[in-house]
Amino acid sequence: MNKQELANTLTKAEHMCAHSGGRLTEKRKRILEVLLSSLTPLSAYEVADVYNSTSESNMPPMSVYRILDFLESEQLVHKLSSANKYVACSHIACDHKHQIPQFLICSSCQNVKEIAISKSIIDELDQQVVDAGYKLMNSQLELQCLCERCTHNAA
Ligand SMILES: [Zn+2]
Ligand SMILES: [Zn+2]
Ligand SMILES: [Zn+2]
Repeated sequence: MNKQELANTLTKAEHMCAHSGGRLTEKRKRILEVLLSSLTPLSAYEVADVYNSTSESNMPPMSVYRILDFLESEQLVHKLSSANKYVACSHIACDHKHQIPQFLICSSCQNVKEIAISKSIIDELDQQVVDAGYKLMNSQLELQCLCERCTHNAA
């Protein structure tokens, strides 16, 4: 993401927060920026490391967690449960409604691509879960993949 895209995305994120009654404070914005600038998902500790290495004031991991929670509730970042790491949402600058995300995670370079799952697949999945007597709590999918580049490199 280049500087201009980053600036546009952050402005859009600010509007989204304002719209839902939240506020994208300077610290929250900086944390989001860390994730937007990262090529791979980061743990809360890694986010804190990057933030602290580029700012004068140190932010304790607890504050980073709180900010990540906020950003997650605004759908600006997503948590990958399988890796316990965070990624910035790929659709912040988009105008369409956010759908249930599906994450393709490259097992080789850790690159992540966020795509939307079609509702019919989720409905079917949900039905299977119900049939098994369970209740679906989180329909976000995280799939282990090889990205295009790594597939080429492996060939
Ligand atoms: Zn998203
Ligand atoms: Zn989009
Ligand atoms: Zn890869």
